[in-house]
Amino acid sequence: RHYNFCAGPAAMPTAVLERARDEMLDYRGHGLSVMEMSHRGEDFVAIAERAEADLRELLAIPDNYRVLFTQGGASLQFAALPYNLLGAGGRPNFLHTGIWSKKAIAEARHLAGDVHVAASSEENGHSAVPRQGEIVLSDDAAYLHYTANETIGGLEFDYIPEARRPDGTEVPLVCDMSSSLLSGPLDVSRFGVIYAGAQKNIGPAGLVVVIVREDLLDQARDDMPTLFGYRALSEAGSMINTPATYSWYLAGLVFDWLKTDVGGLSAMDAINRRKAARLYAAIDGSALYANPITLRNRSRMNVPFVLADPRLDRLFLDEAEAAGLLNLKGHRSVGGMRASLYNAVPEAAVEALIDFMADFEKRRG
Ligand code: PLP
Repeated sequence: RHYNFCAGPAAMPTAVLERARDEMLDYRGHGLSVMEMSHRGEDFVAIAERAEADLRELLAIPDNYRVLFTQGGASLQFAALPYNLLGAGGRPNFLHTGIWSKKAIAEARHLAGDVHVAASSEENGHSAVPRQGEIVLSDDAAYLHYTANETIGGLEFDYIPEARRPDGTEVPLVCDMSSSLLSGPLDVSRFGVIYAGAQKNIGPAGLVVVIVREDLLDQARDDMPTLFGYRALSEAGSMINTPATYSWYLAGLVFDWLKTDVGGLSAMDAINRRKAARLYAAIDGSALYANPITLRNRSRMNVPFVLADPRLDRLFLDEAEAAGLLNLKGHRSVGGMRASLYNAVPEAAVEALIDFMADFEKRRG
């Protein structure tokens, strides 16, 4: 297998794929694949429950939070959130830090009409996240939404914002953690809702994890489509309709890998910090490569960089691919390069990338 730096769907841990391969045709002597199981059967329900229990353990999710395994991508949550949280009126508030938060804002506008941007990093070209003192919620804020890690820009929050209206009332903090959940430990109790598309640190595409505080299950609008509803999903064990069974099972294998092979999220965090620090140091120490993000907000998961001469981009990508370093092309909206260093990307991959970059610079820089 080559090293895969794709931003999503991203690399999967090889050990997880090997285990899935070993039990693909015959799941632990049951005579069928997990793919072929009824989602309401005892065997799959056990797989689903185990996955939730392991996720709860990894993130130390408090008992007053429900965990949903749903579908439609993180993008569907952009629309589901205002349905679930605007039952009592008020306006969604947002921190605008890049392309993904912009999409979440646009989607909320469809339903809410008006939203309030409580702070934005647009003025600094999304190179530094707003500081707490710059965040000003509206008097009618219903919740504050932010994107913990902007996958395309490579901009990550270095703190958990406080969500208070000007009169001091706290509102639920809602966070898109698609590209950062499970990269390290997290204080879930600070949040009202956390959601993440699976295809980075959780498992294959097709699955979305939503972690929602119980008291928010009663804030929904009456006109909400059934499948959007956090209460309905929770009461049905995330099985209102057929769930993404195989993705759910594979996510469970990833959770088990994180617990037993890696040793939990603190261990994962240490590895991720080392990987990112090594790559940023290589970029900063070179004359050919550059990353524009303020140091404290540099993403540990997605490292965008540009070459001093963009005419070398194609050659860089072709040679990288020939060296077994895949998917380093930056997002089509921003160009340049991007190395995504999710949990499944081993430290050896980062070392191989750094060696390649240094060699390329020596030969072509
Ligand atoms: N939010 C963030 C931070 C993302 O990185 C992505 C996808 O890359 C999305 C939302 C959209 O996810 P999906 O494709 O699952 O809708």
